[in-house]
Amino acid sequence: MDKKLFSELNLSESMLKAVQKMGFEAATPIQSESIPPLLEGKDMVGQSQTGSGKTAAFGIPAIERIDQDSKATQVLILCPTRELALQVADEISKLTRGKPGVRELPVYGGQSYDRQLRGLKKGAHIVIGTPGRVLDHLEKGTMKLDELKTIILDEADRMLDMGFTEEINAILDKMPAERQTVLFSATVPAGIKRLIKKFTQDPVWIKIEASELTAPEIDQVWYEVDRRSKLEVLCRLIDFEDVRYGIIFCATKMMVDDLVEHLSARGYLADKLHGDMSQQMRERVMNRFRKKNIEFLVATDVAARGLDVKDIEVVFNYDLPDDGEDYVHRIGRTGRAGSSGKAVTLVAGREVYKLQNIMRFTKAKIKRANIPSVDQ
Ligand code: AMP
Repeated sequence: MDKKLFSELNLSESMLKAVQKMGFEAATPIQSESIPPLLEGKDMVGQSQTGSGKTAAFGIPAIERIDQDSKATQVLILCPTRELALQVADEISKLTRGKPGVRELPVYGGQSYDRQLRGLKKGAHIVIGTPGRVLDHLEKGTMKLDELKTIILDEADRMLDMGFTEEINAILDKMPAERQTVLFSATVPAGIKRLIKKFTQDPVWIKIEASELTAPEIDQVWYEVDRRSKLEVLCRLIDFEDVRYGIIFCATKMMVDDLVEHLSARGYLADKLHGDMSQQMRERVMNRFRKKNIEFLVATDVAARGLDVKDIEVVFNYDLPDDGEDYVHRIGRTGRAGSSGKAVTLVAGREVYKLQNIMRFTKAKIKRANIPSVDQ
């Protein structure tokens, strides 16, 4: 799929400046394909994952279409988690830097209503929220969407997985009939097909293959290890490559706990992220990691979904993920659009069959490498 220059995409001067300031050189494939039809107001289904630049793909045209003479909410972006809503809000705020009149507001469960009510009263052109809280505001009448132009469902498949089907249907039912509906989803299971059929009109379909995602910017290697020496090998690789900032994936919460303990005992700054932790604890860890007060984040797949942290040097697969999709999700944390990264996978015993499946799915070249010796 072709990459275009942002200057070829019919954007306003202020948007071109904002994009340039963010350090984007060319539009990513998903951006090149989606921005033109979205600017025209067409409905769209986009199949692509985090790391493809999808936020800007839907964010840029949505911002460009805002009428600043009105204070009404014109764009609603639904996200599965508070974490993702905050990331999207952050990216949108950067993209609106050239348009000081445009206001965005994240609205998610867990945050006090007061702050959100104040923001909504002031007028937010773009609301980025989680389904439950958005529906709350709609039902209470504290958020009005009669002038809505565009609704965007980000990571729609995950929202359904998390049990938001009813909320999403209820929200979409409240939208003005004349509107643009945009749905981004990594996969298109039956539930997503139903949403597409019910709520979009003649959508443009755009699909970015997983293999195009992982493409050459990520250097992918694997090491064959003995199960019992995984920790040893991990530490040796970290030291050998002098890694200062990475994510280490484990299959289970118990392994996460275990590994953090071992790494800490050996003097590495490590902390954990898994599903048993409260949202508050997770946010605390994420903040420390973003500020680089932690060198290594040890996580399970579920906990790390939607994470967007910049400059990750290496993603380690301490255990192999179950399928290719999880693998792509994991290694997508490094080498985000524009920069390079590395993914290191430790393979013990029969895990080698899993690795073969993953290679088949992703069509990626994962090179086998030799473990550096202690002397090296
Ligand atoms: P996303 O897929 O939206 O999660 O984006 C992944 C990352 O790529 C984010 O950190 C973006 O800021 C960055 N990004 C988005 N578009 C571009 C681009 N055209 N060039 C370079 N980086 C980009």
